[in-house]
Order: sequence, then structure tokens, then C-alpha cells
Amino acid sequence: MIIDLISDTVTRPTKEMLQIMMNAPVGDDVFKMDPTVNQLQEKAASLFGMEDALFFPSGTMANQTAIKLHTQSGDKLICDKYAHIYNYEGGGVAFNSGVTCKLIDGNRGMYTAKQLQKAIAGRSDIHVPYSRLVCVENTTNKGGGACWEFSELKKIEKITRENNLSFHLDGARLFNALVAKNEAPAQYGQLFDTISICLSKGLGAPVGSILLGSKHHIAKALRIRKLFGGGMRQAGFLAAAGIFALDNHVERLAEDHQKAQEIGEVLSTVSYVTKIEPIETNIIIFYVDQKIGADTFIQRMKDKNILLTPMGEGRIRIVTHLDYTDKMHQVLLDELKNFQK
Ligand SMILES: *Cc1c(COP(=O)(O)O)cnc(C)c1O
Repeated sequence: MIIDLISDTVTRPTKEMLQIMMNAPVGDDVFKMDPTVNQLQEKAASLFGMEDALFFPSGTMANQTAIKLHTQSGDKLICDKYAHIYNYEGGGVAFNSGVTCKLIDGNRGMYTAKQLQKAIAGRSDIHVPYSRLVCVENTTNKGGGACWEFSELKKIEKITRENNLSFHLDGARLFNALVAKNEAPAQYGQLFDTISICLSKGLGAPVGSILLGSKHHIAKALRIRKLFGGGMRQAGFLAAAGIFALDNHVERLAEDHQKAQEIGEVLSTVSYVTKIEPIETNIIIFYVDQKIGADTFIQRMKDKNILLTPMGEGRIRIVTHLDYTDKMHQVLLDELKNFQK
């Protein structure tokens, strides 16, 4: 038994999901003739109370498309220094859109309205790259699954409106935040111009992300997705997994969060752990005694068929997910308790 806690992307489709995928009615989605893709897009748009939605092969492509449609070459986007769009999308912001990033020094991937106000200053100065787009990530990936306060997001939205800035949410794990905070998708649909969500993270679909927005924005996104090479043909086989995931795998995220809490409780009692970051959803980030070191700890867990990720600077990450069973959980908790320096 391999206990893979590297990410919530490691899940395999369940039997039921596979069955539904294989039986999905499909067509050529480049001609908008795949009924299952259309159904997924309509379902997602209505869930968020947004006009339209577009299916993507990856979250990266959905985010990069959003950035491209909101900006022009030479513009500036504003995001937290931990943002996935800045750190983990291969420099796509520069490569695809010719845009620079103004990084805010936030807390666990989240910044305040006050910090944003400072970051957009100097817009009338022709020396300064023109601020065009504000990006938020919820939950934060590098920030350890932290969730924003909705009241802060509302303040940030107000600033974006007052300054005619576009507002994008990288919601790869937004459903984790919605479940943890007991919030509704439509709250977010009202706030943002565009939202990306991943179906292939906690929700357990094998492939796929969605970009949500107005009809105008999604029409633009459709052209950009084609240009990026993301126009897919019988994508309904994949979209069917997304529909199934939205119907069946959202509320159960609470179980992943519960397991993450229980792992945190054990880590807080063992002497080799020096620090644990606050656990809000399904991501646990912790530090071990320097005498052991993160790499050695990860290797020794690997020897026991438990896979964890190094996050740099001595940080170790565990992510709970759909395929992490109760039995695996028990084994992990025992191994963590019994680990010998
Ligand atoms: C995983 C992730 C993405 C990108 O998704 P891919 O499907 O892996 O391209 C974007 N943003 C955040 C915050 C993520 O965690």
C-alpha cells in the first residue's frame, strides 16, 4: 500500500465516475457540439451565478487565458508573492501576456485591501507599468490551504471597481474554501470578473478546469484557448467526470479537512516537529528538527511507502484527498507517532 500525500491531484477516477465518463454523449467541442461539455459549462456558470463558463485542460491554461484577456503587453498585474500564477506557471505571465507582476508581501498568500491600495499607486506616472489586473488565490497553495476572509475580499473588490481594475480569482481549490467557511459559490461569482476552478484537485476528476465569467469575457477566452492550443474535440468524456465531481465530491471535502486536522494534532504532540502552520483545509505544512532535516524525514517516510513533498526552506507538505482512505490515515498517524529521531 502506497500512501500518496504529495497532492490532491493524485486521485484516480472512482469506478462510478469512470462508468459515467465512458457512457457520456460526446461531439466535437471545437464546433461547440459536445453536449456533455456544454452541460458542464452551463452547470458551473449557474452554480456561480455567472453568465458563462469554458472548459480547459488545465488550471494553468485557465489562469493564463484570464490574464491574457484582461491585460495588454506592458501592463502590470498585482498578486501575492506566493501566487501560483507568479511562482508555478512557468513564467507564463511574461511569456503569454508580456505582463509584469507587482508582488504584495502578504500573509500565507493573502494580502489586505490596504496593501492593495499601496500597490496600485502611481498609475498616472508614465514611468510605472500600468496596473490592470488584481489576482487573488483561494485557498492559497503555497500558503498552506489558507482561506481568505470574505469581508476582506469585498473591500478589495471595491478598490478594483473604483480604479477600473479587472479582478481574477485563481480558485483551483476554491471548493475547499467554500466547504471550510460554509460559503456559497454565488458569493464569489458576484465579486470577480473571472474565476478559475480545478476539477482535478480535491474534486477527484482526472483532468479539467473551468473558467467562469461574463459572456463577453468567455467569448474572448474561447479565442485565446484556441490560440493556446487548448481546443479539444470529444472532451465530453472528461467533462462527464467534472459533472460527476461537482455533484458528488464537494461536500465530502470536509472529510479531507477533518483528516488534516487529525494529522496536525499528532504532529503537535511529537518532539521532532518544530512548527506547524495553521491548518484550515486539506494542506498541512510543517517543519522538522534541523538535526533530522526535511529531506531525510521525507526519505524515511518514503521507505515506509508514505509520500510527502518538500516545499523549500525546510517546509514539508502533506495534502489529504479522496483516495486517502481511513486505513491509510491510521497507518500514517501511527508512523508519525512512532517516528524515531
Ligand atoms: C494546481 C493549481 C493551479 C494549476 O492547475 P493545473 O491544472 O495543475 O495546471 C493553479 N492555481 C493553483 C492555486 C493551483 O493550486
